[in-house]
This record gives sequence, C-alpha cells and structure tokens, in this order.
Amino acid sequence: MKIIEKYLTPNEYSRPGTKLKPIKAIVLHWLASPHGTGNGVYNWFESRKDGNNGYGSAHFCVEMDGDIYQYLPQDEMAYHVGSETYTAYGLSLSSYPNNCTIGIEMSHLDWEGQMTEETWTKSVALAGALIQEYGLDVEDITTHNAVVGWKDCPRWFFNHPSELLRFKKDVKRYLMYGNIVIATGDVNVRETPGGEWMKVLREGEKTQQVGILDGWNKIKFPGTSEDEYGYVSGDYLA
Ligand SMILES: [Zn+2]
Repeated sequence: MKIIEKYLTPNEYSRPGTKLKPIKAIVLHWLASPHGTGNGVYNWFESRKDGNNGYGSAHFCVEMDGDIYQYLPQDEMAYHVGSETYTAYGLSLSSYPNNCTIGIEMSHLDWEGQMTEETWTKSVALAGALIQEYGLDVEDITTHNAVVGWKDCPRWFFNHPSELLRFKKDVKRYLMYGNIVIATGDVNVRETPGGEWMKVLREGEKTQQVGILDGWNKIKFPGTSEDEYGYVSGDYLA
C-alpha cells in the first residue's frame, strides 16, 4: 500500500502537533466537494495555517483514482470531528474525540457523495490496515455523523446506511483475503518504520499486510508459521 506523504506545515489551525491518545476509532468523511483531489485537500488544509480559514484537517485523503495522501503523522491529532456537541457514541470515545481518532477523507463524484470503485476499494484497504495497526475491530470504523450527530458526513453513508454495512463487510473480506502485497523489487524489511534491518523481501515475493504506519506497511514474513512481523516502505509494494 503506497502512501503519498504530503505533511502540512505545523500550525495551530490544521496541524497543532498534539500527540494523539491511544486510537479508538477510524472516522470516515466525504470531501463535500465533488471531484476533489489529494493536492486540493492539502492546499485547503495548508491554507488555514495563517488563521484565515478556521480549523480543520484529516490524516488521509483517498482520491478518485485510488491514490492515498497523508497530511499528518499518525501520532498527531487532526481537527476532523470537532463539535460543540457529540453523540453518546462520540462521547464514549472521548470528551474530545479528535484526540483519539484517525480521519480519512474520501473523494466522490457528485453531491450525493457516490464514490468511484477505486476510492471505495482503497478506502476499504486503508481502513482495514489501520484497524489492524491499532488492534481495533471493524465496528471501530465509524463516520463523522456518528460522532457528532448533526453533520451528513459522509453523505453517501448518511443517506444509504446499507452502504456503510457493505463497506464494513468489504473491510472484513479484505482482512481475510485481500491484504496480499507483492514486492516490486528487493526491499529491506525493518523492525520498526525506518528502524533496524531484519531481512530482504525479494522481488515478486508475496506476503500479507497487517498494518500501516506513516507509509510503512507492516507485513507478515512469508513462509513462516510464526507470527513474525516487520515494516516495509509502501513504495516497494504492489
Ligand atoms: Zn466529515
């Protein structure tokens, strides 16, 4: 899983640098702007840095062609679910749910919020890898609406609750059968993201992805029965 890293300039309004508490939920959003792009979302969040466009950001955006952008490190808080009031579910996460959630913005085709197959598939994979990374459950994938109650975000899931169920079913299926990655070249496997070298994954070798951390794919070692894990840069996996 390749992540296009485009981190925001640290600033009070979209990248405050606050460390997240242990992650309790993955929150899905829509862009509320048809045909939005990863760069467009970056520019919007970045434009807030001087205080002229209010507060707001999210960790990820999945584009219509399936490219995944990341705007803040996964251990930093984004401003994606701030509200005056929260639902009982939102408050069960935290009195301030921004401090324990990861936000994913999903691009869409129209004002109904309908997504391309690519956005859907990659959002499923990203949400799946994130819940594995944090030891969460499929039911910990939620929506902006479920946290704050008053916002129809993502609109497609708000108006079609069965589609959210289908999304979660697809995440379950991804975790069972779909999370296979293939090395596109000989690539180093490390103990932690960017950390100690463990071994080389050879070009063409297949393995299972079991997490994602700032562009590093957590993988199982192929051919071992033990639960042995390492991290590989997503740039070298297909
Ligand atoms: Zn939202």
